[in-house]
Amino acid sequence: MFLSILKLFAGSHHRKFLRKCAPLVKRINALETEYQKLSDEQLRSKTDEFKLRHAKGESLDALLPEAFAVVKNAARRLCGTTAIVCEHELAWEMVHFDVQLVGGIALHQNKIAEMATGEGKTLVATLPLYLNALTGKNCQLVTVNDYLARRDSEWMGHLYRWLGLTVGCIQNQMPSDERKAAYGCDITYGTASEFGFDYLRDNGMALAPDEQVQRDHYFCIVDEIDSILIDEARTPLIISGPVAEEREPAFPRLRQPVAGLVELQIRLVTRLMNEAREELEKIAENKEPSADSLDKLWLAAHGMPRNRIFLRLMENGRWRKLLEKHEGVLASEIEKDRRFHLKERLYFSISERNHEADLSQLGRDTLRPGEPDAFVLPDLPTRYVELDRDESLTHERRAELRGEAEAAYAQASEDIHAIGQLLKAYALYEKDKQYVVHEGKVKIVDENTGRIMEGRRWSDGLHQAVEAKEGVALEKENKTYATVTIQNYFRMYQKLAGMTGTAETEASEFHDIYRLTVVAIPTHRPCIRIDDNDIVFKTRKEKYQFAIKEIAEAHKRGQPVLVGTASVEASETLGRMLAMAKVPHKILNAKHHEAEADIVSMAGQLGAVTIATNMAGRGTDIKLGEGVRELGGLYVVATERHEVRRVDRQLRGRCSRQGDPGRSRFLVSLEDDLMRLFANAGIVSSMLEKSFKEGEPLEHPFLNHSIGTAQKRVEGQNYSMRKRLLQYDDVLNQQRQIIYGLRNRALQAVDSRETIMNIVEEEIEARLDVVFPDADGDADRRAADTFVHWYVTTFHMRIDLEDILARTKTQVVLLATDRVRALQSGREEHESAEVLKYLERNVLLRAVDRNWQNQLTEMEDLRRGVSLRSYAQKDPLNEYKAEAFKAFERLMQQLRTDTCAGLFRTATSMEALESLMRRAQGQAKATGPAEPGTTEATETKPANAPKPEPFRRLTPKIGRNAVVRIRKGPETQDLKWKKAEALVRDEGWEVVETLSE
Ligand code: ADP
Repeated sequence: MFLSILKLFAGSHHRKFLRKCAPLVKRINALETEYQKLSDEQLRSKTDEFKLRHAKGESLDALLPEAFAVVKNAARRLCGTTAIVCEHELAWEMVHFDVQLVGGIALHQNKIAEMATGEGKTLVATLPLYLNALTGKNCQLVTVNDYLARRDSEWMGHLYRWLGLTVGCIQNQMPSDERKAAYGCDITYGTASEFGFDYLRDNGMALAPDEQVQRDHYFCIVDEIDSILIDEARTPLIISGPVAEEREPAFPRLRQPVAGLVELQIRLVTRLMNEAREELEKIAENKEPSADSLDKLWLAAHGMPRNRIFLRLMENGRWRKLLEKHEGVLASEIEKDRRFHLKERLYFSISERNHEADLSQLGRDTLRPGEPDAFVLPDLPTRYVELDRDESLTHERRAELRGEAEAAYAQASEDIHAIGQLLKAYALYEKDKQYVVHEGKVKIVDENTGRIMEGRRWSDGLHQAVEAKEGVALEKENKTYATVTIQNYFRMYQKLAGMTGTAETEASEFHDIYRLTVVAIPTHRPCIRIDDNDIVFKTRKEKYQFAIKEIAEAHKRGQPVLVGTASVEASETLGRMLAMAKVPHKILNAKHHEAEADIVSMAGQLGAVTIATNMAGRGTDIKLGEGVRELGGLYVVATERHEVRRVDRQLRGRCSRQGDPGRSRFLVSLEDDLMRLFANAGIVSSMLEKSFKEGEPLEHPFLNHSIGTAQKRVEGQNYSMRKRLLQYDDVLNQQRQIIYGLRNRALQAVDSRETIMNIVEEEIEARLDVVFPDADGDADRRAADTFVHWYVTTFHMRIDLEDILARTKTQVVLLATDRVRALQSGREEHESAEVLKYLERNVLLRAVDRNWQNQLTEMEDLRRGVSLRSYAQKDPLNEYKAEAFKAFERLMQQLRTDTCAGLFRTATSMEALESLMRRAQGQAKATGPAEPGTTEATETKPANAPKPEPFRRLTPKIGRNAVVRIRKGPETQDLKWKKAEALVRDEGWEVVETLSE
């Protein structure tokens, strides 16, 4: 049976995989038949047996056939029982099909299993999750929303629990102890952002180990992997909080001038369009319009593409084609000058496609008349050099002038940035489209669902710019505490796999970024859906009218219809039109996942009409009601093509599940954004020109193709945006891994003291680099003075200048470090070891967190800065990498400084603190060894004594029988101290560590 399916459906590049699976599937089924003879107890006990065998070294691959067979057999035994899923009773009536076994194998092998809607992906995931959970590690499944996480964990939990595994699910707003319990289970369900935010909280914010909730990043299956790794990947996860702003934001001050500029442009374009229309309306069929008119159209396309007259003119295929041609001419290299001068007639140019708005010289002069340099950033480095060279300046005056230059720079760059963002706010963001103003706040509208995204803000000052535009109070910008992109979060997993109905169009991206291959799994039963050609209309109105007619007719027949819309606004418009036509219907727009799942599951009943945005009711499949099959199954009427093909395929896939009949049809109008921005005007217009004269809608396979091409262009563009975001994030990601690694060690408090002492030593050494300009030479007296001052203010103990002058650098490093070490260990007298550990941990955590958060802000600024710099023909990414590296070095430096400064600043009681201070004072006064048994290095020589013998490091007094590890160059030896001592004293060996006392 399986083999015949294989022959029928396998495409060439998936065939190999399927062929390999065939014997495995056979084996699983044979085992499963055998297991049918076992008692429940015997079958259940297999789980422990497998765990044991795996612990003893048997690989998961070897266990796969038996494990899968056990899961399948358990599913069979559960048939006839009921599970409680989201407070409803649900009868269990599923046993894994062969194609589901294949899907399970693909997932276990870290692949993306492309399985059509209704193929039962929820059940497929149970196989690899069970298998991988045998390792004892936490295995995870990512769902698109909270509701599905809960539903699927409860539904499949019925099976897992029977098999003796634990299941948990993460929900939004869940308290941390419940989260921890859920991650403590064998298998955990949850959404990508919950998982990602938990990671950020665990690694970037937790202050004690028991505040961390996640266990492993071992095996993760991402359901609807395309929508999570591709659609959601455009916005990173950010944990942020308010920040104290140093300066008044520039937006309110610059709002008026920018608004004025936009007004000027509106008037300019309207005038141009009136002029152009006058000529074009009069022009005869066989005559070409003047170049001037074409220029005017071009200016409108680049200056105000939503101008009404312009849009009207563009409905005429002839003008659209001519403009397209003109655009091509002007884009050529020879016409560069002409294009430039043309652009200079505008105040600014807009690119809706790239989301950009650029000031022209005219615009700049209008904004800042008589200030030609207002938009050029001052050249700071040159100014610094000038100031340094100017001998006539006093030290103070120079510092003052430097400060002024820096302030001027900051002001200029802030103004340039603010003007850029305001321009975007006015030219590209429309109220009630991209955002709404509600209760004095600007709120973002999700472009996919039309839903208000509560609490989300555009970054980089854009949100404040829109607030300034709307005249509402500017909310404070937030400071980022922790951030990660979805991509980089999921790349952490040792094993990643995914499921979806539609991955093929993005297969190369999955491969490039995640090293995931896509395999198309054949359907259980052949798919017999009929996909009709697209129908193209001139206007949106005509399109909707047609849709209503089509829906009403189907409704009359009794055939259920699912109407797909691109936005909430569109679904409401259609709803009103249907109400007028007296067609009963339900509207869903992804607001209430749970309630919607219920409605969607009814969408296949006789005569049902359901309007849904493409997010609504996701993950719930539509079963056909009685008598519907005979009427042709579910009819999907999509009222718009989405930007990307994948979303369209998802919508189509809503019908014809499991071999059901079904039909789908897309309706498109020239006013749709996709067509306006991306459709190949040449082909589309020439076809439309003919047909639209008769006022007929157009239908032709060729049009589907041309729309597909437009979508591919958008997909390509989105891919490069995501890739770019990732390239930037990769830089940050490396740094994040180092910092989180350090932070985690501090948090686990494994060796905080050692880490701190290493940091102290490094800091001291770095500071001594200046004191000893030549590593083997003498100390510089003035620099040594500075060092002494720093030492006493940081550690509250003195180090004598003479102590430094009389020693080599290596000796001073040891002397200075060992005193700190001694003082810290001495604190054990007053503080318990536990408390001291806690204090040490906090010193590190505080230093890490403060500096890392500053680093995040700095990196954001940097990114903004390099994009300004891209004017200078440099690759911004390289600039960013170089600067980021320097910034990280500064961070590590500051982290050291802060750790040193924090070390003796905290104690649990006044008494402990006082004692610490007393001891520090005592140590400073001591002229002999500072602490009994610290090191030989603290022995002080009189200032004028000759240089001491070459110094060798000795750790605290070592017993004669202690075993130590010593090192000289690359060589190490483990010896009793009584033997090693001589080597250390006389032959230049160093003690690395004491192995036993
Ligand atoms: P998908 O996520 O692939 O679209 P679901 O996991 O939601 O599909 O399952 C679709 C429907 O198919 C569910 O109602 C489920 O009960 C049913 N189903 C899945 N697998 C089987 C099976 N092996 N036998 C019977 N019904 C199944």
